[in-house]
Amino acid sequence: EEDRSLLDADAGDLDDGAGADVRPVVAVVGRPNVGKSTLVNRVLGRREAVVEDVPGVTRDRVAYDAEWSGRHFTLVDTGGWEVDAQGIHLRVAEQAEVAVELADAVLFVVDARVGATDTDEAVVKLLRRSKKPVILVANKVDDQRTEADAAMLWSLGLGEPYPVSALHGRGSGDALDALLDVLPEKSAVGGAYARGGPRRVALLGRPNVGKSSLLNKLAGDDRVVVDDVAGTTRDPVDELIELGGKTWRFVDTAGIRRRVHQTRGADFYASLRTQAALEKAEVAVVLIDVEEPIAEQDIRVVQQVIDAGRALVIAFNKWDRLDEERRYYLEREIERELERVTWAPRVNVSARTGRHVDRLVPALETALDSWDERIPTGRLNAFFGEIVAAHPHPVRGGKQPRILFATQASTRPPKFVIFASGFIEAGYRRFLERRLREEFGFDGTPIELAVRVRE
Ligand code: GDP
Ligand code: GDP
Repeated sequence: EEDRSLLDADAGDLDDGAGADVRPVVAVVGRPNVGKSTLVNRVLGRREAVVEDVPGVTRDRVAYDAEWSGRHFTLVDTGGWEVDAQGIHLRVAEQAEVAVELADAVLFVVDARVGATDTDEAVVKLLRRSKKPVILVANKVDDQRTEADAAMLWSLGLGEPYPVSALHGRGSGDALDALLDVLPEKSAVGGAYARGGPRRVALLGRPNVGKSSLLNKLAGDDRVVVDDVAGTTRDPVDELIELGGKTWRFVDTAGIRRRVHQTRGADFYASLRTQAALEKAEVAVVLIDVEEPIAEQDIRVVQQVIDAGRALVIAFNKWDRLDEERRYYLEREIERELERVTWAPRVNVSARTGRHVDRLVPALETALDSWDERIPTGRLNAFFGEIVAAHPHPVRGGKQPRILFATQASTRPPKFVIFASGFIEAGYRRFLERRLREEFGFDGTPIELAVRVRE
């Protein structure tokens, strides 16, 4: 155990409260086709590089390493969502809200030739509410003649519109200079796109399961609120809490402690909050209230964690309220409803009495170790060689697909690629997955298995 902690890459970051190298994050937000991607490419020049392919939830978003006038920041392009004529209004606003939530400053792009639309106005509302600094980019101002179009956008009430031609580069420098003026040195959003620093935990679960009670219990007197960045009026979103001799970053706690936006419909906000918290987190603790039957809503949160590819711990809360009869039903509900996540570590806690709350840390560590785990290619192929010899794929149409080679393509979560000589059936794939878990554990992490067919 001692040796392990010395080798732990995160050990050096223990006393660096805010986490190492947390670059400020800039979100590029706006309707489809206003020129966001063009602007992003303009900023990046040819040196673009994907910072992190955040799985699952961020298919609509790509983060890049960007630099302007010697300042480094993460640039998040929200360009890729599909256009659905009906739901477009809500969808743009929804996407923008998540991106803005995760950003330190915003480049809001409007098509100056079209002018402000209702959708633009909807985005403006949420930008105001976020209190984040916004640079208004009046795009597609390709020449002097159309500059009057840009001036029309003063009406949005976001201050000076910067006339820009993302396509030709005109005016983009001025807009970026203005951006740097309002961009904080260090990110205050919890390093959603960063690596390193204290491990990031999200407390999730439907309303009233006890998230805020558990947070209070864990925090005790040691709570350190991550500071506001000077010049912004943001609510603090993350809290650093020392548990089991390590510092942990509990992300998005403002959403737990203060029931923001509740007027907007609890369901909508709850799922948005879950999504935003998952983006920032490496591991999620999904709380389930043992007093209530396990419901659709609980399963949905668990599924969101899996889809996001994050490590997972399940905490059964309010254990102090469990009587014999309820326990009988609970066990059956767990068997039925949580059958697909038997791999997730479980802790039975009471946020009220503090019962077994200390078991959370070992569970988190197990889940994160699995999430980070890399199986050497040699070992993986030896293992597949054995199971394939003992249980070959069934013969189909006179042919038997063989597994040629397997490798672990990535970690966080572990993803495997199998090269096969033919189509591998879903049933056999599940069998392989099950055996992978039996052999290597992976307690607390989703795993992915992809098959590539090779001749
Ligand atoms: P996004 O959906 O907001 O990312 O928009 P894109 O960057 O994909 O741009 C949509 C279309 O607008 C593309 O055909 C671009 O070439 C065009 N476009 C983007 N910026 C400009 C600009 O400054 N001037 C002109 N004339 N066209 C632009
Ligand atoms: P949240 O909406 O998930 O943040 O839930 P809260 O922390 O606000 O808790 C909702 C209610 O459940 C409050 O009345 C808490 O006092 C209560 N509660 C939370 N945890 C426990 C627990 O472990 N045992 C009992 N008996 N009540 C709890």
